[in-house]
Amino acid sequence: MEQDHPLVRGVFPDLIAELTALLEEEGEHELADCARDLRLVDECGCGDDFCQSIRTADHPRGRPYGPGHRCVSLSPSKGMLILDVVDARIMYIEILDRPPMHRRNAQP
Ligand SMILES: [Zn+2]
Repeated sequence: MEQDHPLVRGVFPDLIAELTALLEEEGEHELADCARDLRLVDECGCGDDFCQSIRTADHPRGRPYGPGHRCVSLSPSKGMLILDVVDARIMYIEILDRPPMHRRNAQP
């Protein structure tokens, strides 16, 4: 089913450009490569004004990620970007206190 989801870089190209640059700065080259292929599975949906987080993998909401889980905090110029990573796969991007992201039409 994963192919049904648009690429995040197609929808939010600026986000992915910034994310990959920040990951490279942190030495997370593998994750930077992954970021280019991330798919937009869903939006966070919490409804908080400051939250534009996105889900980039199918994972049941509220379930723990398990033993391979780690958080990668980045230092963007504005707000916060935090990745939930499981075994080198980016599951979720926390996007907090960031200027509104402009969504591009993801149709091919
Ligand atoms: Zn949220």
